[in-house]
Amino acid sequence: MWLKSYLSFGPDRPVWALFADALFALRVPLSERNVDPEIRMNIFLQTWHSYTNNTQIPDLKILTDTAKKFGLRIEGIAFLRGVIRQMPIWYHKEADPTIRTLNHTQASQCLKKKHAVRNVGDAEALANMLRNSQHTMENNCMCEQCTHLRTNLHCEHPQGCMKQALKLINTLPPKWDPRSVLPEDYQRKPRETEPDWIIFDNRVTTNGTLADIFRLFTDPKVTPVNTLPDLKIRAPEDADTGNIIVATNGSCYNNGEDNAHAGAGIYVGPDHQMNRSAKLPLYIGQSNQNGELVATKLAAELADP
Ligand SMILES: [Zn+2]
Ligand SMILES: [Zn+2]
Repeated sequence: MWLKSYLSFGPDRPVWALFADALFALRVPLSERNVDPEIRMNIFLQTWHSYTNNTQIPDLKILTDTAKKFGLRIEGIAFLRGVIRQMPIWYHKEADPTIRTLNHTQASQCLKKKHAVRNVGDAEALANMLRNSQHTMENNCMCEQCTHLRTNLHCEHPQGCMKQALKLINTLPPKWDPRSVLPEDYQRKPRETEPDWIIFDNRVTTNGTLADIFRLFTDPKVTPVNTLPDLKIRAPEDADTGNIIVATNGSCYNNGEDNAHAGAGIYVGPDHQMNRSAKLPLYIGQSNQNGELVATKLAAELADP
C-alpha cells in the first residue's frame, strides 16, 4: 500500500511522496551525477537511477525493494493520450535511449530553464508550433508565438527550441507518442442494444491516471512491446452480421484433484455444424473454470473464423 500511495500521481498524491521524490533525486550514484537535478522527477517514470543499496535512506530502500520483489513495472496494451502527455519527457522510461543524448544542448537548457518543459505534453505543444502557418522556420521569425516566446520567456532561438522539442518527442515509440493513432481514437464503448445482451467490451486502453500504468507480478521473462496493436475492425463486405445464440459449458471430473480431467462443450442447435465437445489439452490446467474459458474461446473462434 505504501508503494501504491507513492505512485498515486495526481492531485491526491500524499505530501510525503513529494519528499520521497526529492530525496531519491538527491541520493544518486556517481554515474548519475550528470543528470540535471531539475529534471530528476521520478525513478519509476524515468531512466536515471537513485541508490538502491544500503547507502539509500532505509524507508526509500523499502520502496525500491518492494517494487523489485513484486515485479512492478509499466505495462499495458495502450494508454490514454492524456496520460501519455503527463509522462516526464526527460529520461522518459520508454523512449529510445538516444533521448539521453539530447539533454545537454543549448536548446535543451533553454527548454528546461525558460520554457519549463517537463513532460511529453509540454514538448509536444512546443513542437506543434512548427506547424503554424505564420511561422517562418527561422529564429528571428516575428510570428505571434515566436514573439511570445522571445518576449515573455526570453528565449533567444524559438525555432531551435521547437526543433529540439520535436527531436525529443521523435524518440518516443508509438505507444508513448501522443501523435499516434491510439486505440482510444477508434474503439468505442459497446452500445447497449437489448436488455438481456452483454456486448463484449473490446477496448484495450488502460483507464485512469498516470498511477494506473503500473502493474505488479509482471513476468520478467516477457519484455513489454511498445508498438500499438491495430484493432480497427474491418468487417468483410459479405460478412454475416446476424446474431447467433451459443450455449457453452465447461466441466471437470475430479475437480481440484491430481487426476482431474476437464472438457468443454458448445451447442447451437440440433446437428448444427458448430456443436462441439472437446477435451482440454494437458498443458492447460484441468479445472471447471478453464473448461468454461476454453468453451467460450472455441465458440468465438468458430462463430467468427
Ligand atoms: Zn515563428
Ligand atoms: Zn528557447
